[in-house]
Amino acid sequence: MITIGKPEIKRINNTVRLQAVITIGEKEDILWYAVEDKYGNFLTEDRADAFVIGLLWKALEHGYDIHVEAPISERLYFTINSFLIPIISQFYNYKKINVICEQLDSNPIPNAGAVGTGLSCGIDSFSTIYENLMNDKPKNYQITHFTFFNTGSHGRYGKNWTRVLYKNRIKITRACANELGKELIIVNSNVSQFVSFDFQATHTLRNMSAVLALQKLFNVYYYSSTYHIKDFKLSTKDSAYYDVLNLSMLSTESVNLFSTCPNFSRVDKTRLVAKFEPAYKYLNVCTRSAYNCGKCNKCLRTLLTLEMIGALENFKSLFNLKSYYLNRAKFIEKVKAEYNSDSLLKEIYDEMVRTNFLSDQK
Ligand SMILES: [Zn+2]
Repeated sequence: MITIGKPEIKRINNTVRLQAVITIGEKEDILWYAVEDKYGNFLTEDRADAFVIGLLWKALEHGYDIHVEAPISERLYFTINSFLIPIISQFYNYKKINVICEQLDSNPIPNAGAVGTGLSCGIDSFSTIYENLMNDKPKNYQITHFTFFNTGSHGRYGKNWTRVLYKNRIKITRACANELGKELIIVNSNVSQFVSFDFQATHTLRNMSAVLALQKLFNVYYYSSTYHIKDFKLSTKDSAYYDVLNLSMLSTESVNLFSTCPNFSRVDKTRLVAKFEPAYKYLNVCTRSAYNCGKCNKCLRTLLTLEMIGALENFKSLFNLKSYYLNRAKFIEKVKAEYNSDSLLKEIYDEMVRTNFLSDQK
């Protein structure tokens, strides 16, 4: 059994924490989400939604029920108990667990009506932003705030290299948010201490737990899709494959979560980003370091796509191109060998065939 106590607000130096005492088996711990002082008023201490979602993978993995001693949103209680938990536990072959709460609240939390999205400066993130800026969205759906979360994408909480990568990436994101003229909310959290699964398999719930901590702020939140909707599947490798399901299940009476650009392939998204000038200064896709290394899979995939669509020139100052050209031929061979088992490589391969790119390489 996991027990979640009543969330509380705590001020520590220049940050404000939303935290709750949690008990896992016999062990007591604290799960927290922290923001800068000026955003402290938006932390939602009267619902435990963030904590339930932050701990859901832990509970699923160990077959623990979650007992919540504070109110949770009724919609969330209904969707996760009726759909999300049964679907994930069946797919992973886990015991079906229950979230137990005697205080369900169906009232929307009064919020600032903000519209948020993550600013990771990657292809998916910039596509969401550019698509939202370029198309005439109704006022209440135009992005007002960017977010940057420390929920595991920079490595496990507490590790030295995680701290360094997190801090270096914040610098890029902050400069980019300034240039785009929108506020940036950074949420630090120790949630990654409580999830032993790979980040890729669990990122949607981890990140959305940070959004649910800010339900006094957000009315709408866009989570960038990774894969085209046609590739929807339940996957133990990457929760993004079923984000359309996840985000509908994790929305509450107060915040509506959407998977953005679901009808775009990664090649289409790269084409979109190639038209977005701020990306020429800030595109950041590397999985290894804050500066694009030019040789990891994500750098190679992005560079090869940029080259194929004739847009490499605009991005060349952001990448180690020497590494790219050293690894490029090997990566093209990888695309040819593995495109059948990897939907993102398949999109690149299809584009190669469509544009006759491979025959130009001989
Ligand atoms: Zn890289």
